[in-house]
Amino acid sequence: MALRPDELLADLLSRDPVQVWASACAVIQLDDLALIELVRHLPEIERGTADLDLGGAFFPNREHLQQALRVLRARRDGRCSCSVYPGYLFYDPEKEAQAKRIRILSHTPPDWTMTYRCRCAVCGSDYDVEQGESHYTWWQWRPA
Ligand SMILES: [Zn+2]
Repeated sequence: MALRPDELLADLLSRDPVQVWASACAVIQLDDLALIELVRHLPEIERGTADLDLGGAFFPNREHLQQALRVLRARRDGRCSCSVYPGYLFYDPEKEAQAKRIRILSHTPPDWTMTYRCRCAVCGSDYDVEQGESHYTWWQWRPA
């Protein structure tokens, strides 16, 4: 179920932790066209979500909101979408490759912990991606 940008905006501004969290996670996955709609409301979103406690057990939910804001700022500033990979632990290289946003150039033998070398399909930047496992699987992206 894909929400429209105006619905995502309403949820982001709702001050309801669950709705803000769900909407932030959706924004991180949005395509470019839908992002443009939301970028116009970025100051509103920044104001409306400031100091909101989103909770989180193994991982602070606020990180998802921060990432959604980073995605919107990157779009506003005309930076490549790959610039938001480093610093957020939930960009699965396999899924990004399926979505044709990156290409996987090489990887170590598949295991819980492994590393990938990836290239952005848009700007050609290379990244080394470390996959690890704690309470969840995470991926650490670093410019190569
Ligand atoms: Zn790029």
